[in-house]
Amino acid sequence: MLEIKNVKKSFGKQEVLKDVSLRVEKGDVIVILGPSGSGKTTLLRSLAFLEKADGGVMMLGDKSLDMHNASSKDIAWVRKRTAFVFQNYNLFANKTALENVMLGLTAGRGMKKDEAERIARKALRDVGLEDRMDYYPSRLSGGQQQRLCIARALAVKPEVLLMDEPCSALDPISTLAVEDLINELKNDYTIVIVTHNMQQAARIADYTAFFNLKAVGQPGHLEYFTDTTTMFNNPQNEEAERYVSGRFG
Ligand code: ADP
Ligand code: MG
Repeated sequence: MLEIKNVKKSFGKQEVLKDVSLRVEKGDVIVILGPSGSGKTTLLRSLAFLEKADGGVMMLGDKSLDMHNASSKDIAWVRKRTAFVFQNYNLFANKTALENVMLGLTAGRGMKKDEAERIARKALRDVGLEDRMDYYPSRLSGGQQQRLCIARALAVKPEVLLMDEPCSALDPISTLAVEDLINELKNDYTIVIVTHNMQQAARIADYTAFFNLKAVGQPGHLEYFTDTTTMFNNPQNEEAERYVSGRFG
């Protein structure tokens, strides 16, 4: 279980997140929707402590920690349990698929090479890349690169999988392949996904968080958090309705 309460974050004078609270159970996929600039990436990064929030409480498993004043030990504890799938892949161009996954384990977690290789091979098989292990990223399609990123994230055996627009650069067929993979994984992980794709949100999310922006330069805020059926069939206000129906300005 992952829960956050009253997460706040500003960059300089710009307030980006204002009192965001969410709760996700293991086995659930939560999708974060909202216009560009509303703070979705910042929230995901804060959850993985890639960004330090200015305030807020995180509860993960049986641990509760202050997101602003967390000790380096607590931060390491959370990082060990979370994995991030980046929008722009963040792969090493001069390393093969296998080496890319292994690096997260050897350099990232201090694992011995032979064990890292065994785990990396399994993670690549799990995402359907068993025949692409020795390929460099430039020789993989977008969908394969994204599945490689997911393999890299899974290899560290996280509890929480954070995905920032994982399909935004993919064609519809590769998108469906990644969604199938997410559906296969969902029972074993707590998954938080940012997407702009409404159909995708409707297909994969159990819960939907809708972020909104009053105006550019104003803080993003969580407009509401609800089960996906309600979000799509009974939007709670006009802006959410415009957003889910694709009429957002
Ligand atoms: P989204 O992912 O919803 O598009 P972001 O979380 O990327 O939104 O950004 C929210 C706001 O925070 C934007 O106005 C963005 O310019 C600002 N922002 C994000 N990261 C930084 C940063 N490292 N430094 C300064 N401003 C940032
Ligand atoms: Mg973003």
